[in-house]
Amino acid sequence: MTDVPEITLNDGHTIPQFGLGVWQAKPEECVDAVAHALKVGYRHIDTAAIYGNEEQVGQAIAESGVPREEVFLTTKLWNDRHRDAPAALEESLARLGVDHVDLYLIHWPVPSQDAYVDAWRSLIELRDAGKATSIGVSNFNEDHLLRVIEETGVVPAVNQIESHPTFQRFDLRQINQAHGIQTEVWSPLGRGEDLENDTVLEIAESVGKTPAQVILRWHIQRGVIVFPKSVTPARIEENFDIWDFELTEGQMKQMIKLNRKNRLGPDPRIFGA
Ligand code: NAD
Repeated sequence: MTDVPEITLNDGHTIPQFGLGVWQAKPEECVDAVAHALKVGYRHIDTAAIYGNEEQVGQAIAESGVPREEVFLTTKLWNDRHRDAPAALEESLARLGVDHVDLYLIHWPVPSQDAYVDAWRSLIELRDAGKATSIGVSNFNEDHLLRVIEETGVVPAVNQIESHPTFQRFDLRQINQAHGIQTEVWSPLGRGEDLENDTVLEIAESVGKTPAQVILRWHIQRGVIVFPKSVTPARIEENFDIWDFELTEGQMKQMIKLNRKNRLGPDPRIFGA
């Protein structure tokens, strides 16, 4: 039904490489946004307990007529529930109105709490109980990844990290790759900031696409999993219209030159402390 590539995770399950993110989608906007995305062809929704819109995501999926098994649904464990993950996931499932999620992530490592390994052990049990088909982490640096792998022997299926043209994360992507962990990127458009970049504008003009489409196509071609956020129907459609063109090797190289360590979100080493 869509042209979205599927990526195989290290546990053998597959994930659509492209989806819709709903951070900051207000509950009253979220049902329509997810409904529209599903109508356009999106089959992957990224939410989190802390976003306060799981109920609306679940409602939109249920009302869409798209079978549950065709929608890849991700939610995340919030920082104050690291020692209480089973109950936290049950609450998320109840709000979403589903019996399992396709991917459950530890949202942040919060090293000062020193509870993310406990949380990871719980996620392994929840996966084994069928409550989450795949499990992974978000905002984990190398030391956090190594600890969960060494202490449990289970490698996360994904690591969801901030990454966009002005903050590309070559090092952490390489570390993920070395462990067989797929990289998912958040704030893929740099929260809108990277859309104004001269190189992006120039490439957009030369390929006859919008700046958002150029950046999203670049993410797809570099092999990461991406879910831009929008609640505006026209933008939801625009962001999905990236399957009929390709950036050349030269344009991919031009994009690489935009990297300048422009972190927009919090630093995982200290966030949540
Ligand atoms: P984003 O880079 O997707 O940018 C969203 C902003 O860009 C919004 O203001 C939106 O209106 C604008 N936009 C979207 N499409 C556009 C278009 N075609 N033209 C012009 N403007 C457009 O940023 P994000 O929301 O931070 O990240 C995407 C998703 O990543 C989130 O919704 C969430 O699911 C996830 N996320 C995860 C974490 C984490 O800690 N794991 C943190 C932040 C976000």
